[in-house]
Amino acid sequence: MALEIIESCVNCWACEPLCPNKAIFEAAPHFLIDADKCTECIGDHAKPQCVEICPIEGAIVNELNEPMNPAGSLTGIPPARWAAAQREISQR
Ligand code: SF4
Ligand code: SF4
Repeated sequence: MALEIIESCVNCWACEPLCPNKAIFEAAPHFLIDADKCTECIGDHAKPQCVEICPIEGAIVNELNEPMNPAGSLTGIPPARWAAAQREISQR
């Protein structure tokens, strides 16, 4: 059981110091999680600390590849509204 950091990570360093298991490490092109060390914070915290601090929606996923902070969860912008705004901007 482990979480994974994917390519949308912006290397902000916010999560790395918070991991109780020192499972997060700097790599190229973005930070990674050592699956052998990640416990999803069970036993240490009520919620995964990397997920709690990460400012980028979708940068951390679970074992089913589901985003832990899904689209709209941090910005408050519903995904459909965001897509419509992008379409509108691209047509200008
Ligand atoms: S879920 Fe917890 S243990 Fe796993 S990488 Fe994130 S902070 Fe570390
Ligand atoms: S907090 Fe998120 S964006 Fe920042 S380094 Fe960690 S995974 Fe990447």
